Amino acid sequence: MSTRPDRCLKCGKNPPGGLKACSKCHGATGMYCSKECQAAHWKLHKKVCHPLSDGEVWGIKILDNRHAPWSRQFQHVLLRPSHPVFTVGELCPVTDLCGTPLLIWGERVHGGKRALEDNQPAVYLRIEPDDGLAPAHWQIDMNGTCIVVRRDRKLLTLEAVEIIYEFHARLINDINYAEGEPFWDRPLSPEWLRDFADEYREEQKRKGRLGFDFFP
Ligand SMILES: [Zn+2]
Ligand SMILES: [Zn+2]
Repeated sequence: MSTRPDRCLKCGKNPPGGLKACSKCHGATGMYCSKECQAAHWKLHKKVCHPLSDGEVWGIKILDNRHAPWSRQFQHVLLRPSHPVFTVGELCPVTDLCGTPLLIWGERVHGGKRALEDNQPAVYLRIEPDDGLAPAHWQIDMNGTCIVVRRDRKLLTLEAVEIIYEFHARLINDINYAEGEPFWDRPLSPEWLRDFADEYREEQKRKGRLGFDFFP
């Protein structure tokens, strides 16, 4: 199964003439419909423009800088296929129900190493849809750096993680605790995440941020 992008990384289109591969990474993480899209996307793409070998996968490292700007909370990380996220990483249940399954691994939860910092975004991503809480083994004060990857091993972008994290934050905020009432106004579904993403993307585009032309 190819992990190459199957849509233009800039505009999200897949034109009938096919996509062109970035010559530096041989299309591993950069496929485009046109030279214009490629040029417009270089500022973001250059961070992950790297030919992939031996099943390497780009994931995202969630740092524990809860109050820092996005650029210091989420970072690209190139993972070898032997990274434990692929064996003991846990499925983020909300992402699975919403059509973009992510796996998450925590250095403290799975590695047993001493970690110094709290990692709230990682705990958010691990919530269960039936109670809105992360399981007990994630409810530790100091879970340190965590790694997330797409289950299909395709490129996970910083923007996608940000949208998915914000969606979880919205869910947690909107839980209806009234007995006998549904937890949320609508069932968790790919449509709900997409609607949320469209709204969020428009907001970020208005702020002039790059990388929010489509939700991958
Ligand atoms: Zn394009
Ligand atoms: Zn490239």
